[in-house]
Amino acid sequence: MIMLDNDKILIIRSDRISVRFKTLADGRLEVRMPLAMTTQELHDLMVKKQDVLDRLVLRHNERSAGREYKEGAQIVLFGEALEISFVEKPGFCWKYDNKLYIDKYFERNVPAVLKDFYEKQAPGMIGRAKQIQREFGFHEVKIGCRWMKSRWGSYSSKGNMTLNIALVMAPRGIIDYVIIHELCHQRHPNHSPEFWQEVERYLPTYRSFKAWLKEHGHLLRIMPQVL
Ligand SMILES: [Zn+2]
Repeated sequence: MIMLDNDKILIIRSDRISVRFKTLADGRLEVRMPLAMTTQELHDLMVKKQDVLDRLVLRHNERSAGREYKEGAQIVLFGEALEISFVEKPGFCWKYDNKLYIDKYFERNVPAVLKDFYEKQAPGMIGRAKQIQREFGFHEVKIGCRWMKSRWGSYSSKGNMTLNIALVMAPRGIIDYVIIHELCHQRHPNHSPEFWQEVERYLPTYRSFKAWLKEHGHLLRIMPQVL
């Protein structure tokens, strides 16, 4: 049963011709509807669309779960904890020692601040990949970074390597492992025993890094949820 509860729904009437539903940051459902539509008509429509609306709200709640960043909340950068601290100082955010200072003005927008902060670390990761590529004598390939939902890195048949920006949360040794792993796909475009032998040749301790990534797979899901 759908209740047109003002605490849960924000109704906006305007001279539009269709009804549009959207979830708001505070968890309410925003309904934009035509001026001529009656409350009864809206109610009937919502009953008809109940499944869709339930899914919309559920998805919103899932996405916002665990997304609150309060003073003292911890995030990770290169495997080390950084504590968030809000300050009344214009700027965006800056790191000093083990703290990430964020302009209080952005207190309600921390996920966006963090997304930007992590993206700014990506060029350093590309630099590291280029260095490994040179030092270990791999062919030079194009290296890029982006947010990926289900993998830490990829190597395309065209010879482009992509690293997941989420890797900047991982310790540096892990980043090196992912880079070496992807570069080894130059010679073995698969995960055959020969491929792993090659990885081992460059990184004899690769098994522990592989296990770490498996255990910390949830880090992969942090950012895309925030976007
Ligand atoms: Zn692989």
